Amino acid sequence: MKGIHVNVTVTTNSWGNWAGTASARPREIAAPSGVDELADLITRTRQRDGRVKAVGSGHSFTAIAAAADVLVRLDDYRPPPVVDTSTGEVTVSAGITLKALNQLLAANGLAMPNLGDIDAQTLAGATATGTHGTGARLGGLATFISAVTLVDGTGTVRRFTREDPELNAVAINLGALGIVTDITLRCVPAFQLHADERPMPIQQVLEEFDTLAADNDHFEFYWFPGADRALVKRNNRDGQGGRLSRFRGWVDDELLSNQVFGLMCRLGRAVPRLVPAVTAISARALSARNYADRSDAVFCTPRKVRFVEMEYAVPRAAYADAFDGLRRAANRHRVIFPVEVRVAAADPLWLSTAHDRDSAYFAVHQFQGMPYLDYFAEVEAVMRDLGGRPHWGKLHTRAVADLGTDYPRMADFIALRDRLDPDRIFTNPYLQRVLG
Ligand SMILES: Cc1cc2nc3c(=O)[nH]c(=O)nc-3n(C[C@H](O)[C@H](O)[C@H](O)COP(=O)(O)OP(=O)(O)OC[C@H]3O[C@@H](n4cnc5c(N)ncnc54)[C@H](O)[C@@H]3O)c2cc1C
Repeated sequence: MKGIHVNVTVTTNSWGNWAGTASARPREIAAPSGVDELADLITRTRQRDGRVKAVGSGHSFTAIAAAADVLVRLDDYRPPPVVDTSTGEVTVSAGITLKALNQLLAANGLAMPNLGDIDAQTLAGATATGTHGTGARLGGLATFISAVTLVDGTGTVRRFTREDPELNAVAINLGALGIVTDITLRCVPAFQLHADERPMPIQQVLEEFDTLAADNDHFEFYWFPGADRALVKRNNRDGQGGRLSRFRGWVDDELLSNQVFGLMCRLGRAVPRLVPAVTAISARALSARNYADRSDAVFCTPRKVRFVEMEYAVPRAAYADAFDGLRRAANRHRVIFPVEVRVAAADPLWLSTAHDRDSAYFAVHQFQGMPYLDYFAEVEAVMRDLGGRPHWGKLHTRAVADLGTDYPRMADFIALRDRLDPDRIFTNPYLQRVLG
């Protein structure tokens, strides 16, 4: 298939992520077209005691994908997708973008059961970091994986299926266990999503949080620090709602969410004392809309205004304390971007933010180029006290010494890493910090 992978040049020797928070100057950039070629590259790199790092679309805010030695892209690895419409199982190159994956699935009458906010990531990158959407009865993207093929740190090709308990480690692997080449997903029949978005008083949202989470397939809310209301999004598979006109979709998703909002952000960054006014105007501009569309078109929208982000998952029952602490921290800072709050079901994946517990997610953002360190640090302290688990692809300051208590299968993951990557050829400074 043409055009399914990230469209980047593999000849340049510099790499930077979307948010501008991580960069690297790899010694070599490789784009193997087959598994044997990749295995050979890994074996040769190991022999010279080098390092290899696969990168996806560079949409992690952390330096998790930074490669100093050999940077591997899967752009040229394009096995034909295998689609079984009777079971909904689909096997694709791990380097496929979510956008191309969604198109492939739709063409076959299938869909991902849940998605996050954007579709620019690669499937390998998104699942490696535990990317998730929202829905109290659903897990993140990696929970839909039923098999993974990877080349480990010894150059051995390994396939993990549902019969292997280690699939629960390999599904969210932080890029630390091998280079994933193929992923099999359990998909569902294609469906339309009915989106109901409307402002609600924040106090009411907090009081009705559990009901909103239980009564909707996908519930989330956005709240601008300082505002007394939030934008509540409810997406349901109830067959209701009509298509938005192309014009209204453009006004909402492109003009207001990206262009006008981007202008407001630049104004706030240039004149910081205007930030409270900018935030208040943005909060008041949140308006209601009701429509239905193909599921991925409702889940994913373009994000053109660049920002930095930290996200923590806490036990669902702690959501009110988490929000209270976050609100106190946000009130002490000039914050221009909204807070996003989501939910997910407990899952068995070892390094999942929702491992073995129903979770509420709190994502804090700041416009690129504005101060964020103190704000994020204060929110992080709140989340940490509540047993919060940081998103692996988003900014945080946690290290291996204190992550084990919140990720109970961390020691098992590290033991598996010892087996699959004994010489740590997939490591980088971020992985050293969080995995040792
Ligand atoms: C605008 C924006 C919106 C976002 N929205 C959400 C959201 O709604 N929900 C959410 O949970 N997250 C969200 N994220 C975070 C994002 O989904 C993750 O950080 C994700 O990992 C990015 O995927 P990527 O393809 O860019 O991977 P990269 O950031 O390039 O890499 C991530 C990790 O995957 C590894 N990797 C990549 N390819 C392979 C491979 N073939 N084999 C082994 N390891 C590999 C890398 O080595 C690295 O460790 C968002 C990020 C941005 C910038």
